[in-house]
Amino acid sequence: VFIAFEGGEGAGKSTQVRRLQEWLTADGLVTRATFEPGATPSGAGIRRIVLDPDTVGLAARAEALLYAADRAQHVHDVLRPALDAGEVVITDRYVDSSLAYQGAGRVIPMDDVRMISRWATEGLRPDLTVLLDLPPEVGLARARGRGTADRLEAESLDFHQRVRRTFRALAESDPGRYLVLDATQDPDQVAAAVRERVGMLLAG
Ligand code: C5P
Repeated sequence: VFIAFEGGEGAGKSTQVRRLQEWLTADGLVTRATFEPGATPSGAGIRRIVLDPDTVGLAARAEALLYAADRAQHVHDVLRPALDAGEVVITDRYVDSSLAYQGAGRVIPMDDVRMISRWATEGLRPDLTVLLDLPPEVGLARARGRGTADRLEAESLDFHQRVRRTFRALAESDPGRYLVLDATQDPDQVAAAVRERVGMLLAG
């Protein structure tokens, strides 16, 4: 079973991934929690390039290919092997992040991002995507509290609004595969809603 968490800055994805993993592990399931970008050794190098504020002049297409390369390595090294071993795999970000950030954010045609994503992942898709949705102003204020502000402030509020709109549109286009949650809620409420839906998914 493959579950992805998506959302903008400061949505609480890493907290919710950890809480879901704890809950599933307590239930006796073998789980694998992972993330993008940068979960593999070569991916860590890619993460440094794409997220380093000193990287200047990275072209949108180059950025899109670097995220796709990170994801291809992630699928190859982590996601596919864990799924083949029967583990419950939970990833913090996946293809939708590229559709939102590189597609809507950097304004690369969606079909192009879709095509390179499909190629990079060999078509591997989550069984469930949890979208932690919140207004960018709220998320950015939270993220600012953790000191990642410099890089985030480099993008306009409009950029983050396009990202949010795209995540929501993706969820609306395939409601059966998404759980959209209001990420301004208390983290306990969010975690409970995630557990309810994942419980249903695992019950088949
Ligand atoms: O999830 P996390 O906060 O670690 O993501 C790091 C950053 O990478 C995010 O702030 C986001 O702006 C960026 N990102 C991106 N395109 C992706 C995935 C992440 O721009 N496909």
